[in-house]
This record gives sequence, structure tokens and C-alpha cells, in this order.
Amino acid sequence: MRCPECSNTSNKVLETRLSKDRNILRRRRQCNSCNTRFSTQEEMVRGDLMVIKSGGRKEDFNIQKVREGLQLALRKRPVGDDAINEAVENIKLSVSDRLDREVFSHEIGEMVMIELKRLDEVAYVRFASVYREFKDASEFIETIQSMQSVDYDSDQQ
Ligand SMILES: [Zn+2]
Repeated sequence: MRCPECSNTSNKVLETRLSKDRNILRRRRQCNSCNTRFSTQEEMVRGDLMVIKSGGRKEDFNIQKVREGLQLALRKRPVGDDAINEAVENIKLSVSDRLDREVFSHEIGEMVMIELKRLDEVAYVRFASVYREFKDASEFIETIQSMQSVDYDSDQQ
């Protein structure tokens, strides 16, 4: 990191900021020789995120699979692409915070369900009934009942 004025490589960091998407680190620096202030940007390079499956097997995290899961659950539901993209971004942001670079597959399932519950109750039930391993029927019924207390939109079924 050279000073743009005198090319000195010694400087101090005055301020560090992380961009909103958490991918770029912006630093305000001051040259230790001529006191010129300048900014630098550093792109964050992180290791690949691994998904730990229920059997303990690991595989690369694939955001496309999350998107496909959401699209499948939301098939023929009145939810637009923008809303799906936002949900995908929310999940991407949640998993990219993982310092250990590992996430359990059931945690991703939970994140998907949180987004679905927000987007569309019918799609939420559809997804939950397929992906969540209900311990028994009463647990499933409890989930349905807790949702019936939520106000539905006009597309009640
Ligand atoms: Zn300088």
C-alpha cells in the first residue's frame, strides 16, 4: 500500500468501513511520511462455504439450490421474482456471516421457512410439510394452527 504522493509504504489506518454487501473493506489511510490522506479498497476473499448434510457429509454451498427450493415452494403463488430475489439475498447474507464457513443443511431449511412464512403462508405449509421432519402429527397440526391465527390475504384457500 503505497502513498500516492511520496510512494512511502508506511501508513496508518484512520477509519475502516465494510460495504453494505460485506464484500469490500474501505480504509482511510494516512501516510507516515508526508501525512497525505488516501483511501483504499480491499475485496474480501473468503473460503468456500460448506453445507453439512444430515448424515455429516459436506458439500459446497450452492445459492442456486436455495433459489430453486423457494421457486418450487412458490410455484403458482402470487409472489414475484423481486420478492424471491430478496429472500435469496437475505439467506445469502445470513450464511455469509458464518466465520467458521460451515452451515448445517437444516439451518438453511429454517432460513428458507422464515422467508416463505413472510412471503406466502400457503407456500410455507407446502415447504414445511415436505422438508421439516415433524416429530409427530400433533407438531404439524400445531404449526398449522399457529398460522391460522395470522391474518390471511385475499388468497385464502
Ligand atoms: Zn506520503
